[in-house]
Amino acid sequence: MPAQKPSLKSKVAAKAPLKAVQSPAKKAVTTKAAVGRSPAKTDDGVPLSTIIRRRIQAKKARFHANDNIAQFMQPGDLEGLVDEVAVKMQAVLESLVIDTESDHNTHNTSQRVAKMFVKEVFNGRYVEQPALTKFPNVSHLNELMIIGPITVRSACSHHLCPIMGRVWIGVLPSKESALIGLSKYSRLTEWVMCRPQIQEEAVVHLADMLEKKIRPVGVAIVMDADHFCMQWRGVKDRDSKMINSVMRGAFLKDANLRREFLALMDRR
Ligand SMILES: [Zn+2]
Repeated sequence: MPAQKPSLKSKVAAKAPLKAVQSPAKKAVTTKAAVGRSPAKTDDGVPLSTIIRRRIQAKKARFHANDNIAQFMQPGDLEGLVDEVAVKMQAVLESLVIDTESDHNTHNTSQRVAKMFVKEVFNGRYVEQPALTKFPNVSHLNELMIIGPITVRSACSHHLCPIMGRVWIGVLPSKESALIGLSKYSRLTEWVMCRPQIQEEAVVHLADMLEKKIRPVGVAIVMDADHFCMQWRGVKDRDSKMINSVMRGAFLKDANLRREFLALMDRR
């Protein structure tokens, strides 16, 4: 961390979501990039996303940007969604008046962006939670554990701009807590972060999950991140960061424990 003034922002301003991103052209234009790929539609022309949406709605489940919908996905759906998004992404490029036919750099951009969204940066919406091996707390450890910094990459759900940061997790296990392997903290964190969301909700979500899995006496999470929607667009403030924390159980009640965690977190 730089030693100069910490420019903490309690809230990332994002008033006007981009209209163009919200509704990319209703009529999906079939383009060169999409030709020869599975159309991601049923015989009667229903898009795959509509089919998945109907499965979710039938169960009255939520499908916000940061919700995981893996239980509604069937084999092959991930590839089908890549194809559907690619067609619609191509329409966005066309609406941006980019000549993707003669500009070789943008020739397969729609396909690349679709694959990046579905299989990489938003993949945490579509795949199951990583399996966690739990170990019984045989030595009855009840000392503070700190895991971090875990590098995290996410995207804001307002602009789909990257959020790049680090997370520290503090766990105070009880003698009865199940322990999970250290690498699993990273896996779990990545799974939660690979969705469009806002940072405040991401850390709460992560804390909820760890509480449920480990049943610790306390859990603490600190996330420190750069928000590209403040740096690349908007106020173009390159130094602004957002730091937020969640303290649960013992970390909330015990000021000494909280201080110990914050002091041991290596925020260089
Ligand atoms: Zn944003």
